[in-house]
Amino acid sequence: MERLYNFSAGPSVLPEEVLKQAASEMLNYEDSGMSVMEMSHRSSVYENIVSEAEASLRQLMNIPDNYKVLFLQGGASTQFAMVPLNLMVNSKKADFVNTGAWSKKAISEAKKFGQVNIIASSEEATFNYIPKLDPNAFDKDADYFHITTNNTIYGTVFKNLPDTGDVPLVADMSSNILSEVIDVSKFGLIYAGAQKNMGPAGLTVVIIREDLMGKAEASVPSMLQYSIHAENGSMYNTPPTYSIYIAGLVFKWLQNLGGIEAIEKINNQKASLLYDFLDQSDFFKGTVVKEDRSLMNIPFLTPSKELDAAFIKEGEKRGFVNLKGHRSVGGMRASIYNAMPVEGVQALVDFMKEFEAAHK
Ligand SMILES: *Cc1c(COP(=O)(O)O)cnc(C)c1O
Repeated sequence: MERLYNFSAGPSVLPEEVLKQAASEMLNYEDSGMSVMEMSHRSSVYENIVSEAEASLRQLMNIPDNYKVLFLQGGASTQFAMVPLNLMVNSKKADFVNTGAWSKKAISEAKKFGQVNIIASSEEATFNYIPKLDPNAFDKDADYFHITTNNTIYGTVFKNLPDTGDVPLVADMSSNILSEVIDVSKFGLIYAGAQKNMGPAGLTVVIIREDLMGKAEASVPSMLQYSIHAENGSMYNTPPTYSIYIAGLVFKWLQNLGGIEAIEKINNQKASLLYDFLDQSDFFKGTVVKEDRSLMNIPFLTPSKELDAAFIKEGEKRGFVNLKGHRSVGGMRASIYNAMPVEGVQALVDFMKEFEAAHK
């Protein structure tokens, strides 16, 4: 069977070059006589893999020296609790913007540990926009300010970051990390599950400013303290070794492409292909207000539920898979992460044109 065009929201498409390289190295990695999966995480050959992965990520994102990069497990969902456990340590208050289901989960976990102040929400409109933020509502005394930069389910993205002054900005970047240039120094902490834009499930990347570590109460389990992972170079326990290796290959693939500036251009080109088509169509329509549209996740609808279902079914036959939208939005969603080639989006748009002509 041919490889399909996989528009899954996550786990999602990986670069074909990376999969081929991993396949070629599967049985015997660089003359080590074994697979990366079989190696001790304390071996020098594996230590090289981790340190190269970290160096590549630091180079790609231009991560300042006073930030630690941690390779953890437990997904972004564990970070929903780990962030408050480590950061809600002074006023025990945090500001949140509610931009969707993932924000809500982060909020409900944080509430277990302190006082959560919801600055703004777009829930009344099924989260189809990013709410305007009134800086007067920000709590200057908060331990941190949390946003979900890209809302995977609804297809919105923060185009402008809130200016939180001395309050550390914390971001769930699971679905848009490495998709566009960002200034890491604007954040206190960034976290992201790998399975959207970095690699296989099982790895969670945390980028944390050093001064925010080491303040968790002693009762916080060791595995949930950033400082313990940092002191041990992400090797306090066995890390997700194979996922880190694949993520390292994805980072190298991005470096070879020309880094984040280069992939951002390609991502803009891919998203424009789809949005320009949606904007001129009187059959398909996007669900998100124009100014807040995501480059990564693009939800859209036909005129009826029946046609949505027919589109998804016909698409599957043509090799376009995982286009069904999240149940809270309905319709379709095309997730076009870094590894989705331009040809994949062009082929989808061609199919949409054909479907529109046949069903209008
Ligand atoms: C997928 C996703 C999550 C959940 O990630 P897990 O790794 O499954 O815990 C959280 N936040 C965002 C923005 C996501 O896209």
